[in-house]
Amino acid sequence: MAEAGTLHDAFIDELRDTYDAEKQLTKALPKLAKASSNAKLRQAFESHLEETQGQVERLEQVFESLGEKVRGKHCDGIAGIIEEGKSIMEEDFDDTTMDACLIAAGQRAEHYEMAAYGTLVAWAQAMGHTEAAKLLQQTLDEEKAADKKLSELAEGGINQSAADGAHSEDEEPEAAAAGGTRKSSSKSGRR
Ligand code: ZN
Ligand code: FE
Ligand code: FE
Repeated sequence: MAEAGTLHDAFIDELRDTYDAEKQLTKALPKLAKASSNAKLRQAFESHLEETQGQVERLEQVFESLGEKVRGKHCDGIAGIIEEGKSIMEEDFDDTTMDACLIAAGQRAEHYEMAAYGTLVAWAQAMGHTEAAKLLQQTLDEEKAADKKLSELAEGGINQSAADGAHSEDEEPEAAAAGGTRKSSSKSGRR
C-alpha cells in the first residue's frame, strides 16, 4: 500500500495544476484582447499576456528549485472560467457592454490565480522552500496588479459608458431599478 501523501506532494500537484492554468491563459488572453473595443483594455490584456508568459517560465524555475521535472496537470477550474469567457464573447452585446463583460471574465481568472498563488506561497513558506516562495510571491503580485488594473478600467469609465446605454430611452431608470416595467427590448432577452 502506498504511503499517504504529504503537504509537499499536494504542493507539487498544485504547482502542476497552476502551470497548466497559466498555459491555458496564454491561449485565452489574446482572444480577450482581440474582443476588446477599448484600446486601454486591449493593451491591459496584451501586457498581461506577456506577463503570463513570464509566469510560465517562473513556474519552471520553481520546479527546478525543488528538483522536480516540469510538468502540467489539466486545470479544470481555469478551463471552466475560460469556457464562460468564450460564451460571453459569443453574445451580441454593444461594444462597451462587451468590454465590461470581458473585464468581468478577466477578473474571474485573476481571482482564481490569486487564490492559487496565495496558497502556494503560504505552503512554500511553511515548508521552508524559500526560493520557491519568493518566485511565487512575484507572480502573486503581478496577478494582484492585473486585477487592480482591470478594476481601474471598469470603474474609470467602461462601466459607466456601458450603464449609460443600459436602458431604453422611453424607460424611467427608476422603473428598471425597481425591477418593474422593463420592456423586453434587450436583444438577448436578458436584464
Ligand atoms: Zn516541500
Ligand atoms: Fe497568471
Ligand atoms: Fe493572471
